[in-house]
Amino acid sequence: MLGASSIHELTSIDLLGEITLQMEWLGVGLACLIPLIFFIIAIALAVWVYKDAEKRDESGALWLIIVLLTGIIGLIIWLIVRPDMAEVERKRQQQQYYQQPPQQQQQYHQQPPKQSKQCPSCKNQMRHIDEHNRWYCDNCQEYK
Ligand SMILES: [Zn+2]
Repeated sequence: MLGASSIHELTSIDLLGEITLQMEWLGVGLACLIPLIFFIIAIALAVWVYKDAEKRDESGALWLIIVLLTGIIGLIIWLIVRPDMAEVERKRQQQQYYQQPPQQQQQYHQQPPKQSKQCPSCKNQMRHIDEHNRWYCDNCQEYK
């Protein structure tokens, strides 16, 4: 009788012990999970700042490091100092203008030669016939 009772007691203590152990592991798991979640949020913020900085022609890598090192403080600094999108667009347009190849700028000022050819015989304005790639004088009614 005693033997059976003590076995029963033993198993229930074992079960209780196992539950306690599981609870402890759950606690450890949660304790690990919370920093992990913070870590993931920090990474996500840093990545967002990186992309935002790149979008605004700023150094994404630099801001990525700043936010990773300083966390939310770096994020706040970025939000304060980041250039306005309108300003970024204006700068880009300026750069595009100066980066234009010289020929393109010249072409822009030059008149297209197609419309300004005169007939060598009658000085009439000739028409360029794209089909034949030749100049036609309406006055003389012939190609030149
Ligand atoms: Zn002519």
